[in-house]
Amino acid sequence: MNRYLIETPHTAQDCQRLVEQVRAMGYLFHFEWGCKSGVHCGWAIIEAENEAQAQLAVPPLVRNKARVIKLFRFDAEARSLHEA
Ligand SMILES: [Zn+2]
Repeated sequence: MNRYLIETPHTAQDCQRLVEQVRAMGYLFHFEWGCKSGVHCGWAIIEAENEAQAQLAVPPLVRNKARVIKLFRFDAEARSLHEA
């Protein structure tokens, strides 16, 4: 399983509708939000086999704005993928 960060930037106007979509999709408790700090964006880290599967957690309202980013951890020697 890979881990993906889902980033859902949106406007204050779309906030309520977006949260309703996320709730309907069953991902409400995966997401944390910056809305009350004036940063209208929700973030979730989910496990998925691939990016296509991770995209299923993206609400339709922000499908063209959302970012889906595959995550990795540095190993004990702090080597990154770039040095591999
Ligand atoms: Zn918001």
